[in-house]
Amino acid sequence: MTLLSKTRRLTKRLLGPNSATLHDARGGRILLVIECILNQNARDRGAASCAAMNRELVSLCLDQNIGLLQIPCPEIRALGWERKRPAGNSLREALDTPEGRASCRKLARDMADRVEQYQAVGYEILGVVGGNEQSPGCAVHHVPAGDPHAPLSQESGLLMQALDETFILRGVDIPIVQLRDADASKLVSDLQWLKQTMTATGEDDKGDSES
Ligand code: SF4
Repeated sequence: MTLLSKTRRLTKRLLGPNSATLHDARGGRILLVIECILNQNARDRGAASCAAMNRELVSLCLDQNIGLLQIPCPEIRALGWERKRPAGNSLREALDTPEGRASCRKLARDMADRVEQYQAVGYEILGVVGGNEQSPGCAVHHVPAGDPHAPLSQESGLLMQALDETFILRGVDIPIVQLRDADASKLVSDLQWLKQTMTATGEDDKGDSES
């Protein structure tokens, strides 16, 4: 465990949502997810993987008492639901403009503000869950690959890059991971990673409260 995460855990124990000021049912752990994980209607035509939301991730969070904070879709914010763009332009090209990047940076700052507000009163932010490998807004590609705390490459979606840069600037150390629902085997592996991480942090918290 890093010094930063030890400090955060100590802060949570001193000030956190289970402190004397907040005796209620909340679990105190939050995961940020991109809009379409909870609302497939946000996806571009032909890109929805299910009717409504990713049932497996939602069930996992319900089982683990983890709240979900939804990040608005960067494509819809910048381009509208129709993703309007000049003929022949890819979605990536349409989003990768000064205006599109500025829109993603603004969204990243707003989400980082929310993360910091929660962390300041002791909530545990488990991470950010992005999208499929080709998503212009939300793809997640780390360098080196496989390390969810490593910086993101230029191949990543523009919003994920903006979030990564904002978190680094502000010293916010939370993992950015992917949920690749366009590929069944990758989805299984991504869900397994999330389950292990959620269970491990839940056990840590139990240990903290018992110690
Ligand atoms: S840009 Fe992101 S949030 Fe929007 S539909 Fe694509 S993957 Fe989902």
